[in-house]
Amino acid sequence: MKFWFRIPLWQRVIGALVLGVAAGLAWGPEAESIKWIGDLFIKAIKMLVVPLIFFSLVSGVGAIGDLRKLGSVGGRALLLFLVTGLIAVSLGLALGALIQPGAGLDLARDVAASTQDSAPPSVTDMILAMVPDNPVSAMANGEVLQLIVFSLLFGIGIVMAGEAGAPIQRAVDAGATIMQHVTMIVMELTPFGVFALIAWVAGTYGIDALLPLGKLVLTNYAGCLILILVVYTVIVKGIAKLPVGDFFRGIIDAQAVAYSTASSSATLPVTLRCAQRNLGVSRSVSGFVTSLGATVNMDGTAMYLGLATMFGAQIFGVDLSFTDYLLVALTATLGSVGAAGIPGAGLIMMTLVFGTVGVPMETIAFVAGIDRIMDMMRTATNVTGDLTVTTAVARMTGEIDVEEYESADDI
Ligand code: ASP
Repeated sequence: MKFWFRIPLWQRVIGALVLGVAAGLAWGPEAESIKWIGDLFIKAIKMLVVPLIFFSLVSGVGAIGDLRKLGSVGGRALLLFLVTGLIAVSLGLALGALIQPGAGLDLARDVAASTQDSAPPSVTDMILAMVPDNPVSAMANGEVLQLIVFSLLFGIGIVMAGEAGAPIQRAVDAGATIMQHVTMIVMELTPFGVFALIAWVAGTYGIDALLPLGKLVLTNYAGCLILILVVYTVIVKGIAKLPVGDFFRGIIDAQAVAYSTASSSATLPVTLRCAQRNLGVSRSVSGFVTSLGATVNMDGTAMYLGLATMFGAQIFGVDLSFTDYLLVALTATLGSVGAAGIPGAGLIMMTLVFGTVGVPMETIAFVAGIDRIMDMMRTATNVTGDLTVTTAVARMTGEIDVEEYESADDI
């Protein structure tokens, strides 16, 4: 038992992946008898979504603490978070359509895709559907968009209430921390879920099934690199009007920690230090934007959610309509907002995106075995995005010491 827990989780997951493939190949189609373990893992993940989003969002908004700041700095930051998030999902969808990582694998005959309403909802229907009649029923029914809207308003309400709201703010902060621990418990199921699912896939389809997974990993890395080298570079150069070389030299520590921990939250202290010491951003702007960004700005995750949806649709033969793409863009952006900055959070948010467009949840267990490798890269991207927006907002509001920024290479 001790031995088991001494091995880092991601290594156990990769071990389970390798063993699962071997077991599946040896066992053949009979391996389906252990698929239920994978289903259990998916259920446990789904269980986390509602409380995670509620606590993480409310705690993030409440952390702003001041309405005026919420307006000036927060408004600009949120706008940039949203725009980069939408660009990221679109990139993920485009790469998924172009590279077709799921092509060549057809799991449709084993899992019936969730049936969808034949008539796509109109835009007004979609807007109306975002506001819950009742927040408790939104939670009970797992209506995540509605939950996000309510959570944002609740967070703003806490800020407006000032002193009177403080105890609830503390309770919500505690809730967010508790949910991170609960998530870690559930994540302990990953090796078993991965073993069972990959054994089932390998047993049913043989070694051919693994090629698409390799393609998915490469596409994920390509998407993250495009975000970092193109989108963020354009923002630093075009909006912040600052030299790009100094920016990347100044943030390398944060990228390295993000890559190795796969957690934006765990990286936050390093992100903050890079923003203040290497990029010369003022204390108040760096503190506020980086901590908000660590929870709500996850472009790597948004890109991956778009890509994974395409992957799931391809392997399970689900046709996506234009409205579906819009829905994916919306839910993946909001899902990346609601995701906590911890390892595997992107995996949890998949349930939300897949559910809206009818991609089978089995996709999650299928990709879970290789998630860590992708998670590391998307976390490094997420943190780079946080620092990009922090720099741009600081520049727009005159809260950056350009001399210090340009001397980043002296550090
Ligand atoms: N691990 C990521 C982060 O902390 C979230 C994700 O799983 O995509 O930024």
